[in-house]
Amino acid sequence: MALLFKGLSDNVEEWRRELTRRIPDLDMRIWPDVGDPADIDVAFTWQAPHGEFKRYPNLRAILNLGVGVDTLLTDPDLPRHVPVARMVDPSLTRQMTTYLLHAVIHYHRRFDHFAALQREASWKYERGRNNGACRVGIMGMGVLGGDAAQALRGLGFAVAGWSRTAKSIAGIEGFHGADGLTPFLARTDILCCILPLTAGTRGIINADLLRRLPRGTRFVNISRGAVVIEPDLLAALDLGHIGAAMLDVFTKEPLPADSPFWRHPRVVVTPHVAGNTTPATAADQVAENIRRARAGQRLLNQVDLDVGY
Ligand code: NDP
Repeated sequence: MALLFKGLSDNVEEWRRELTRRIPDLDMRIWPDVGDPADIDVAFTWQAPHGEFKRYPNLRAILNLGVGVDTLLTDPDLPRHVPVARMVDPSLTRQMTTYLLHAVIHYHRRFDHFAALQREASWKYERGRNNGACRVGIMGMGVLGGDAAQALRGLGFAVAGWSRTAKSIAGIEGFHGADGLTPFLARTDILCCILPLTAGTRGIINADLLRRLPRGTRFVNISRGAVVIEPDLLAALDLGHIGAAMLDVFTKEPLPADSPFWRHPRVVVTPHVAGNTTPATAADQVAENIRRARAGQRLLNQVDLDVGY
């Protein structure tokens, strides 16, 4: 029994330390030096090349090192009988919530406007605005969207969430499905997207959806670039229908140097940094899932391969 590990090179030893602290006899093989593929019973990987998993005849579980499983699930050779778990890491959740709090506060408190005034050495007093007058809409009310929604509600923002299935969360207005989308968009001043990328969400932020938002809505995307039709977003920004955007994810990453997003006066670009998995806080779930896989039990945070998240 051995664990296949493929992560980023900068914290391999940290992962080894955290996992062997929890499973002292763990045999951890660092990709691509995996030894005999028949030894591998659990894979703990990020962005493994397509075709990788079919090499391991005794694989019992695939543990995704990140949250989004979109790249993994598009592997045409993914062994469909092997359960897949996504990452739920309390530190990553807090990082994502912090990003969304920053974005909402940035626009609501008009820090973009004051930065522009400062460039002109222009002192223009204005009154602050009540948080309750700012309507935040969160697309995707799972682990990450739910946490951000609660934090924003705690600060008094008027928060609504949109999800695939109905939800009832105290103090948060719930919308779901295709029928709930138009009323959800119509009551939104700052739209935050934290949906997974699936067949149902690819390209969902398009010209038709953007038109249903009030004029001047600010848009924040920390989900995946491909949920957005980028030319439609740029056109809406140029028309002023979308007032501004803060974007962490793009259809092509790294964002090409000639992308209009880099230099757009009302766009803030960050390089896919909204949240990272932290070994010290994520290792409990990974160790528990290794144990569960070996005991033939259902994994924590197991992905529904049919819905794609
Ligand atoms: P969850 O699986 O916990 O939640 C997903 C949410 O999206 C659920 O509320 C779900 O609805 C909703 N949803 C899914 N499909 C649809 C649909 N077709 N229509 C409406 N709602 C839908 O995921 P997480 O919150 O843990 O993560 C979300 C995504 O965040 C990840 O998949 C990843 O792509 C992205 N991410 C980005 C990072 C970054 O650094 N930028 C870092 C980490 C994650 P329901 O509740 O009904 O199931």
